[in-house]
This record gives sequence, structure tokens and C-alpha cells, in this order.
Amino acid sequence: MDGWMIDGFTELHAITHKDAFQWMTDSNQHIPVRIQSWVSCGQRSQGRQLLQLQHSVLSPDAELPDELLYGRAGYLYALLYVHKEIGGHAVDQTTITKVATAIVESGKNLSAEQKKAERCPLLYEWHKKQYLGAAHGLAGIYYMLLQPAAQLPADVLSELLRPSIDYVRHKRFRSGNFPSSLSNESDRLVHWCHGAPGVLHMLVMAYKVFKEDKYLKEAADCGEVIWQRGLLRKGYGICHGTAGNAYAFLSLYKLTQDKKHLYRACKFAEWCLDYGTHGCRIPDRPYSLFEGMAGAIHFLSDMEKPEASCFPAFEL
Ligand SMILES: [Zn+2]
Repeated sequence: MDGWMIDGFTELHAITHKDAFQWMTDSNQHIPVRIQSWVSCGQRSQGRQLLQLQHSVLSPDAELPDELLYGRAGYLYALLYVHKEIGGHAVDQTTITKVATAIVESGKNLSAEQKKAERCPLLYEWHKKQYLGAAHGLAGIYYMLLQPAAQLPADVLSELLRPSIDYVRHKRFRSGNFPSSLSNESDRLVHWCHGAPGVLHMLVMAYKVFKEDKYLKEAADCGEVIWQRGLLRKGYGICHGTAGNAYAFLSLYKLTQDKKHLYRACKFAEWCLDYGTHGCRIPDRPYSLFEGMAGAIHFLSDMEKPEASCFPAFEL
């Protein structure tokens, strides 16, 4: 976590997508891997360190983004994870609420600045771009804010979050896929990080929270896009690879118990089991959790118990 935050703060302005993966995909620096080791080893001092970071995260002067991989939504995930695994004595609800509220306030501010309060009351950007996907964009941030354990008030959910989610829904391409950012009209990427596979998780969570069928239907539509276009030549990883896309099927399966989605996850698992035979490019960090073999193995291991599957560092 120290690596995550220190790199995140000091290199924020210079960071590129590739740089991002340099530390995100280094297993020594990766948030959930390190937190999981603290949890299993009972390293309370590390837990305190996690809590101490809130001062920087909450500071109005912090030039911290809100997205999942480097920003406040990732920090919120870390808090929710420890809270779930260890309990309220390790991470208290007040801290969780403060961080969730800071993310909401940041989104309101940008939305007001951009005069989008009517259409999209919670707006976020990363490196001056308003991304839509799970890794850097609106879908990932909304997904984390929708977590029941974040305990946002009902009026924030209904008056700010729901119209913002609907704004993303209306950006859908005719194909059913989603743009990578509000300024990008190209229907190209079908990744967890950019495109329908990440937005699907937001829609599933919106269905669970708001109980409106339109969210479930559109999540299922995302599933069709992934089934048609989701076997990726970029590799087998979870961020922009076939394993990450298969987690979308598992999410639909866990929600609906429809075996069609499990079948699709199995077929993607078969593809991953033929590792290295599809002419995919080798990731820069071939063993890493997000880009490489570790993520694919995590997915294949989850296929043993699909009902308990969990996209690492994202699903709770
Ligand atoms: Zn990616």
C-alpha cells in the first residue's frame, strides 16, 4: 500500500497507462495482494498505515484522482475489503463513509464545473479525460459507491448516483458496447478496463441496489457483446484479457443462476487453458495479477467454485 500511495501521489502527473501497470502489476505493490497478506498475517501496523492514509486521501488539497486503479475508489475498495475480512474494529464505518462522501463531493464539483449537473450529477476524469470503464472511469467509481457497505444515504443513491449511471447507459453504442471515454467514438475495446465487460459489473450492482429490470437487461446485453467479441488477442489477463472478460459471465451467473453464463465462462476458461497458443502478445509483465498469468490462474481457480468467484481488487 505504501508503494501504491507514494507512487500514486508523487507520480500522478507524469503517469501513463503503461507506467500505471508498472506498479499496479508488480505483485509487491499490488493493493489486494499486500492487504491480503496483512490480513492473513495479522499485521496490525500495516492496517494502521492503511487508515493513516485517509488524511492524504481526504485532504481538499490532494490532487488525487477518484478512479479505481490509482485513486479514491481504489482506497475505498481497500477499506471495504479489510472491513469485510477483519471487521469494524480494523476499519470503522466512519472512515468508510468519509471516503465515499469525498468521492461523491469530488464528482459533484466536476459535474458543476462542466455544467453537467442535470445530466450526470457525479462526473470524474483521469488525466483530463472522462473515462467510462471500470479501471479509470465512471463505471468503476459508481460500482464502488454502490457497495452496500459504503452506506451512502438513500437520497445520494437515488438523486446523484442513479442518474449518473443512466447517463453512462445512454452512451452505449448500437452494438451494445461502451466507449472508453466521453470523447472517444470508436467502438473498439471490449475489456474490463474499457468497454462493456467493466460496465456490466456496474449494471449488475445497479440492478441489485435499485431493483429495476432495465439494469439487468442491459447487463445481459453486455454479456452478448462479450460472448461475440470478448476473446482477446491482448492476452489472458484480467484487465484487458480473456480472463477478465470471463468474470463478467460469472457475475451474470451468480446473479441469475442461468447456466448459459456459466457455459460461456467455461468456454473462455478453455481458451485460457490453451495459454500461449493463440498468437496473443506477451504482456510487459507476464506473471502479474492484472496483465499476466497470475490473473488468469486466479480466474481458472475461481472456476472450481463459480458461485464464490470474485474479480480480485474489484468485487467484494
Ligand atoms: Zn486494461
